[in-house]
Amino acid sequence: PRRVAIIGAGHVGATAAYALLLSGLASEIVVIDLDRRRAEGEALDLQHAVPFGDPVRVWAGDYDDVASAAVVVITAGVNQRPGETRLQLLSRNVAVLRDIVSRVMAVMPDAILIVTTNPVDVLTWAAIRHSGLPPPRVIGSGTILDTARFRARLGRHFHVDPRSVHGYIIGEHGDSEVPVWSLATIGGLHIDQYRDATGEELNEATRRQIVEETRDAASHIIERKGATYYAVAAGIVRILQAILRDESTVLTVSSLIDGAYGIRDVCLSLPCIVNRDGIARVLFPPLAADEEEALRRSAQVLREAQESLA
Ligand code: NAD
Repeated sequence: PRRVAIIGAGHVGATAAYALLLSGLASEIVVIDLDRRRAEGEALDLQHAVPFGDPVRVWAGDYDDVASAAVVVITAGVNQRPGETRLQLLSRNVAVLRDIVSRVMAVMPDAILIVTTNPVDVLTWAAIRHSGLPPPRVIGSGTILDTARFRARLGRHFHVDPRSVHGYIIGEHGDSEVPVWSLATIGGLHIDQYRDATGEELNEATRRQIVEETRDAASHIIERKGATYYAVAAGIVRILQAILRDESTVLTVSSLIDGAYGIRDVCLSLPCIVNRDGIARVLFPPLAADEEEALRRSAQVLREAQESLA
């Protein structure tokens, strides 16, 4: 059986469980939460969706159930408050993460972990440290969502299916993230070439607006409805699909970077090949000088947060 354990049955965990259930990728989904009744409520509700899709066993469990999970998804934690940066969440969530990782390691010492709790990059780094797992087995959801938002926004701008827009947001999942304009392409054309060929406009002001909308999307949503969960849940299922189907898909996820671009021992997002081994390879695309500089600044922000944990 393809068992996926989801730890944290809040907005993100429950929505990820629901999206996973509908995807048909897993045959067993166990949800675990400190608040056992909440996990039970979510599991019951999810169970009643099963007859409308592929058979899957869903239940509220505990850490013994993690033992044979193909992948463990950690969504537990406290949420961003309005106006709070992701890095301010750090101390509140690192304790939660360490506790969960210890319990997972006790039953599943060679787990593949997906970390989504914020600040996701620093918590991915803390999960690697605390678990002792080989770094490729710990994946942070990182900028998978920001990259999706960037591609969707560019797709809307150019009236092109976002799947045909290639481009990446790299670095921190947060304020210092870096849009890689130099590698944004549509159908093999750099977007500037595409703009010129189609007579569309893409001036500095529009670029700035696209970057701001991409970067600040979570804040805008949190201001309005208190939390974000649909898109991140879809992103979690996309990572699970790459692992469970051994796809070797390129996804911008957070992993340990040690040496590239002069960055040492920091978790941040770059395009990665993801398959059943976790992060099979991190890609280090050639960046424009200002992008590389911005990536190093992003790494520095994350390093300072990591050091605050010591
Ligand atoms: P939520 O408050 O709805 O749910 C969190 C759940 O975690 C709660 O049910 C709580 O009981 C549980 N929990 C707390 N401590 C636990 C522990 N020790 N063991 C097991 N369960 C525990 O929050 P949410 O909206 O689901 O967000 C969860 C996290 O995901 C937050 O850190 C949020 O910032 C993050 N998030 C990340 C992304 C991303 O792109 N990476 C997107 C959205 C949210």
